Amino acid sequence: MAADIKPEDMRSWGIVGAGGAGFPTEVKARSQAEMVIVNAAECEPLLHKDKELLKACSDDMFSGLRIMMKLTGAKKGAIGIKEKYSDVIDLLNNKKDKDIDLCLLGDFYPAGDEFVLVYLVTGKVIPPGGLPINVGCVVNNVETLVNLGRKRVVTHKYLTVAGAVKNPVTLCVPLGISFGECIEKAGGATVDNPAALVGGVMMGTFTDDFNAPVTKTTGGLIVLPRDHNLIRRYTMKLEHRNRIGRSACDQCSFCTELCPRYLLGHPIQPHIAMRALGFSSADPAMVVGTLFCCECNLCTLWSCPEDLDPRQACINSKAQVREAGVKWNPREVKPHPLANERRTPVKRLIKRLNLSGFANKGPLQDCIIDTTRVVIPLKQHFGVPAEPTVKTGDHVKAGDVIATVPEGKLGANIHASIDGKIAAINSAIVIEK
Ligand code: SF4
Ligand code: SF4
Repeated sequence: MAADIKPEDMRSWGIVGAGGAGFPTEVKARSQAEMVIVNAAECEPLLHKDKELLKACSDDMFSGLRIMMKLTGAKKGAIGIKEKYSDVIDLLNNKKDKDIDLCLLGDFYPAGDEFVLVYLVTGKVIPPGGLPINVGCVVNNVETLVNLGRKRVVTHKYLTVAGAVKNPVTLCVPLGISFGECIEKAGGATVDNPAALVGGVMMGTFTDDFNAPVTKTTGGLIVLPRDHNLIRRYTMKLEHRNRIGRSACDQCSFCTELCPRYLLGHPIQPHIAMRALGFSSADPAMVVGTLFCCECNLCTLWSCPEDLDPRQACINSKAQVREAGVKWNPREVKPHPLANERRTPVKRLIKRLNLSGFANKGPLQDCIIDTTRVVIPLKQHFGVPAEPTVKTGDHVKAGDVIATVPEGKLGANIHASIDGKIAAINSAIVIEK
């Protein structure tokens, strides 16, 4: 029953946002909202986890949504989903109640950006630097609600493994399993010298450490050959990017004109951050709008005709603005009149990123993956690291609490994901069977 669940249960079950920064779900559940929005927009190229989860676990998702609506007092629920997923939409339509709407979205990037999604669902713009709750909304992604709807501790993670692998797939794996094992479960890499982008090709992070563990926020692994243009761009040295940016930017401002946050009326203008690269000491006030860059990477990987890196220029400027303590003067913002026309279709993005050669699918494997060793980081959520409640040599069962967050601090408990013995404790807890 939704009424029986309390926000503190989410903390003890270890429920945090199953993507992004892993924001503790408990905090969202304590707010008062008009609408709870399910973020099923999944717009990162080649990722299919949310669609697959909705197909397989929609009852759990609806149960989680009901809990959030009950706790936040929201009278309405909405599911933002790509219009192209007609089979999933039929399924959801058959199961949903009248107070939950489906909001059908175009297939563009970044439809899953919270600010863009809230605007598409409600027509309201979250103010720069604000949160969905500022316009009466709470947004949760699909897997977070599935975890909540199951009303139990979080021990496993769903992720899509795609790109240069034999069988692109969505897996359910124990937290702490290695990337390498996940890639093996996808049939193995199809290239000799693979690297990977963790979380997606647009907003992910580069890795070639396949011993690294899956955490509560790992939404996908896109395996690519080492000489792929995306790997080259993710690994380019910062000084090199800045030097090229200084000399080659012609201030055409395409990066700004197509920026999804600029199109919402936010004061972000990446071409100004690029201009600032040319000054030895730019006035932070000139680039204060970079505070509102969501780092979606569209300007760098799609908009710029010169292959420059305006996103990095924004990240640099953001740090300078914060250090200087410069604040943006709040004012009312309005979406750009062409906001709806200037969308970036995912199909064309895939082509532009040189990903067309990889299968764009990730069916859910219908068995839960097992392993003999997991490495479970103490910090895999927004907030403070969890503190171990076990010691080396202890025997644990899957689901046992192994680390907790001190009372009054932001975070969530961490649980054993397999049965076994605690083999080591450092910044992570290692469990071996
Ligand atoms: S799109 Fe590229 S060249 Fe044009 S202003 Fe932006 S960074 Fe400079
Ligand atoms: S990364 Fe670029 S396109 Fe995305 S919000 Fe920042 S400035 Fe805009």
